[in-house]
Amino acid sequence: MQQILNTLIINTLYYSEPMSLLILSCHFKEPPCTIDRFMENPKTYFVRTYGCQMNELDTQIMTGQLEKRGLTAVCDEEEADVVIFNTCSIRDLAERKVMGKLGQLGRGKKRQIIGVTGCMAMAKKDSLFRKFPHLDFVVGTNNITDLGPVLDEVIYTQKQVYKTDDRFEENLDYLSAKRDHKVKAFVSIIRGCDKFCTYCVVPYTRGQEVSRPPESIIEECKKLVDDGYKEITLLGQNVNSYGKDEPSWNCLFHDLLAKIDQIPGIGRIRFMTSHPVDITKELMLAIRDLPSLCEFVHFPIQAGSNRILKKMHRIYTKEQYFEKVALLREIVPDVSLGTDIIVGFPTETEEEFLETYQAIEQIRYSLGFFYAYSPRKGTPAMRWKDDVPEEVKQDRLQRLLDLQEKIGNDLRKEKTGNTYEVLVERFNKDGKLLKGRTRRWEKVIFEGPESMIGTLQNVRVHSYHHETFLGTLVHSETKYHN
Ligand code: SF4
Repeated sequence: MQQILNTLIINTLYYSEPMSLLILSCHFKEPPCTIDRFMENPKTYFVRTYGCQMNELDTQIMTGQLEKRGLTAVCDEEEADVVIFNTCSIRDLAERKVMGKLGQLGRGKKRQIIGVTGCMAMAKKDSLFRKFPHLDFVVGTNNITDLGPVLDEVIYTQKQVYKTDDRFEENLDYLSAKRDHKVKAFVSIIRGCDKFCTYCVVPYTRGQEVSRPPESIIEECKKLVDDGYKEITLLGQNVNSYGKDEPSWNCLFHDLLAKIDQIPGIGRIRFMTSHPVDITKELMLAIRDLPSLCEFVHFPIQAGSNRILKKMHRIYTKEQYFEKVALLREIVPDVSLGTDIIVGFPTETEEEFLETYQAIEQIRYSLGFFYAYSPRKGTPAMRWKDDVPEEVKQDRLQRLLDLQEKIGNDLRKEKTGNTYEVLVERFNKDGKLLKGRTRRWEKVIFEGPESMIGTLQNVRVHSYHHETFLGTLVHSETKYHN
């Protein structure tokens, strides 16, 4: 116990918070039946991640913290001393999966410390503790840096603990993140979102936009380059808003991209995700001019009807969106575009759906993520009747999927025979062919030696299967830019 107290004190000092403040900022509840499940010195951990790339990165930061404390990862959640579910609230299905898992673990015999982090932690902390008395802690999206102290409090007090601040403070230990890929890395540049789309929980679960200081981002990117990473994806709910909350930095998103592009040895830069309103001409010019910045933009339209866009509070019209796409294509003619679309939003008529369908036909995205609307608690849209029948939503979804498959195949047909720069990421699932991506995010598999993993290769694509190009190596000279 003395050792645990020491760790608690060390962590408290490390996080520069007086202990009283630390304890006041967390909340304890009497544990109904947890005492026999506790351990004083957890040695292993398991983290299951749901949802978006932001969650994946948060998991990497949390596992970095756990490993710094001496815990090691195990593959089986039932074997782990500490089990964490890093959750997502965007879709109902993801939430139901977590609930099922929490219920299952509660029936196990092993002494475990069980925690929930991520968006569900913010949206449902009270009901989670009520429903799952064996749950030990809940840590919100703005508190992942507090995981260590919270774990100590759980061990020390043997009570349920939660820490869910509304606002994010920029104090994460990014450099200790435990990356699970040797070639590509995510780098967080902004957290939260100020857009308040009526269907989305993110502004409530992740809070308002907080940009990360450019020096901190550059330091992490330099380290990643030194460590041999070839591709960096800048992450945020809306990366294009970067720097707007800190005008004194004088560094907007395109300025940040220019600084990262200057890092000696940088391979590729990507970014996601974007809000169309914040995609500026300066950003388009950066995509054209910065050698390391890839020509792929996730440009989510969400719907093709102006009435539905307004109801979604997307703050652009279809015409404004089309104008931006036209300008981007004028500046970067060979850019590839991706999108997100929600079908069956409350009151969406067949005619309005057809406007979405026609928008896809017109834009010809290379990548589309399509969803049937499901109401999310705490959002403005929750107040509206979910009045599009499920079978109609599914029918609309299928029509979009069929259309996207056709467009994707047409685009791949047009590209077949071309040679592309491919960043080789790993072996394909078959373990024989190498797998990589072009600058425009197309997946390519081809024959080559393992030593090519982590290098840029020129590959001629001769055919495709579903969404994957099959290709042949043109020559093995390593190139960093097209
Ligand atoms: S832009 Fe809209 S959909 Fe995207 S995270 Fe913000 S509120 Fe959610």
